[in-house]
Amino acid sequence: MAEASQNELAGSVDQEIENRVEAEMTRMLYRSAGFGLFSNFALAVILVAGMWTYFPSAVTLGWLAVVVAISMVRYGINLAYARRALSDESLERWRTLFLAGVAAAGFAWGLAGFIFLETDALLPRVLVLLVVAGLNAGAARSLASVRRCYLIYTVTTLSPGLWRFFNSPETGSWTLALCFVTYALFLLNTAKLHRADLRKLYRLIFENEQLVNTLSDAKRRAEAANQAKSEFLATMSHEIRTPMNGVIGMLQLLESSTLDLEQRQQLEVAGKSADTLLRLLNDILDLSKVESGKIELEVIDFSPAEVAEEVVALFSTRASAKALPIYFHPAADLPAMVQGDPMRLRQVLLNLVGNAVKFTDKGRVEVLVELLRSEAGVALLRFRVRDTGIGMDAAMQEKLFIKFSQGDSSTTRRYGGSGLGLAISQSLVHRMGGEIRVQSQLHKGTEFHFDLPLALASKSTALRAPAVLEIAPLQGRVLVVEDDWGNQRVIELFLRKLGLEVTLVGSGVEGVDAALRETWTLVLMDVSMPGVDGYEATRRIRRRLEGRPLTIIALTANARAEDRAACLAAGMDDFLTKPVRQEVLWACLSKWIHPPATP
Ligand code: ADP
Repeated sequence: MAEASQNELAGSVDQEIENRVEAEMTRMLYRSAGFGLFSNFALAVILVAGMWTYFPSAVTLGWLAVVVAISMVRYGINLAYARRALSDESLERWRTLFLAGVAAAGFAWGLAGFIFLETDALLPRVLVLLVVAGLNAGAARSLASVRRCYLIYTVTTLSPGLWRFFNSPETGSWTLALCFVTYALFLLNTAKLHRADLRKLYRLIFENEQLVNTLSDAKRRAEAANQAKSEFLATMSHEIRTPMNGVIGMLQLLESSTLDLEQRQQLEVAGKSADTLLRLLNDILDLSKVESGKIELEVIDFSPAEVAEEVVALFSTRASAKALPIYFHPAADLPAMVQGDPMRLRQVLLNLVGNAVKFTDKGRVEVLVELLRSEAGVALLRFRVRDTGIGMDAAMQEKLFIKFSQGDSSTTRRYGGSGLGLAISQSLVHRMGGEIRVQSQLHKGTEFHFDLPLALASKSTALRAPAVLEIAPLQGRVLVVEDDWGNQRVIELFLRKLGLEVTLVGSGVEGVDAALRETWTLVLMDVSMPGVDGYEATRRIRRRLEGRPLTIIALTANARAEDRAACLAAGMDDFLTKPVRQEVLWACLSKWIHPPATP
């Protein structure tokens, strides 16, 4: 059944192409008619001049008048054709008109053979034969595209002359007649071959056109589907991040309450699961960005050694829990500051060092940063992450950077993970101008390394020790504009813990009113709210404040760079992503609020 309908479809496509070829053959007739008409006219004048002394002028001029009249009518048809934009379907009528014109012209030339061959003088006879034969040879190309057309022309132009030769009493005139027939057959065959080539050529062109259309259609559909997928991923991860904010925040708050041992263990499991879920969400969001080419890299000054050291420091607790030493070796000649995207570099190193610690039980993990060379203001740095862990076989190394691929199912069961980390890291390193390479031996260990070209920072600042985060209490009045009940509770508790006074409002409109009614140290503004959203509320506040200062910080689950840019464009001063952690909230707020002066 399906096969039958597929055949039907193929048949109709074939018929459509055949119709287009047929229409193009008619168009070709008109396209090549111009020169034919001109030569018709010129040769008729030459012929009449050649016959002038042999035939009465009434005959020669009468014949010329017929040829000129026919040529004029054909010219008129050509003009009418050229003025219209004709569909393939309407060409049938024009083909018939053209055939009628060709038949008339052929008849006029046939008449020339019939009239002017009736003489004993050599010159007029040779001239007539030459002209008629020449016209036929020319028409074998210009009329070839439609079989009937050339056939009519050959028959009408040649048969009167042929009739003359066959009926001539002169000896040997039948040889001329045979010569004529052979010549006509030869030309008919030439026209046939030419027509076959033309049809083949146009068929190929139209088939290709059809193919290209089908392919670009398929490409458009695939691109739209991919775009929809990325948008779906971004939306889903946004939607899930919002409730996650509540979960992670509440778990953090629970940690500081009085709990018995069992409750604390349960809390730990819940906390770990929430962290894993958030990491997975971030990975999926990152992947959708990398795949749609939407990752934007920052170019800011940073210390490469400091970034690597921070990553090592972050994993030191996890490594020491496994009694695994983790070493950091920055080369002595490293540039203090380079330009690039420290967050993305950190993300890659977090993944590589995280894996090294995860997959190593004995031995050591080492992180090395070396300067390969430095020229023309650009330093080529090599980052290595080495471990003495479970290692990988060649097959595993091959599919390492492919999404969702992991060692084997036992690896997943034992170590967890999504198999996305290395695929994302590789894409990021590509974007930064390098490539992650791996060397590994099963049960011996693994080394990942990548080289990055990084511009040297213009003002070379000295290496500074990583800041130790110490949460100092803050003082001030904070207005929180947030519509989600769960998020309201979390942020309120966080802010109170930091020593701040909090007022909550649940919509953009209330936010604008409250912001203008009282004096605030700062405003935390949710972005997606029904009705007046955070962008609009901020714009209204800024308009009505008329330049008076008020710090507004976005609090949003939209974590993309373009969301950040949109917040700043709407008039916000800073940007916090949900789920927000207490330290991050503190770090951001303390940029805008100064801790109370200690006496
Ligand atoms: P995951 O989130 O699952 O760790 P990755 O893309 O980071 O995803 O890693 C994919 C797989 O590569 C891992 O599941 C593991 O099998 C293998 N792998 C990565 N790093 C190491 C390493 N240092 N030692 C051994 N195997 C590794």
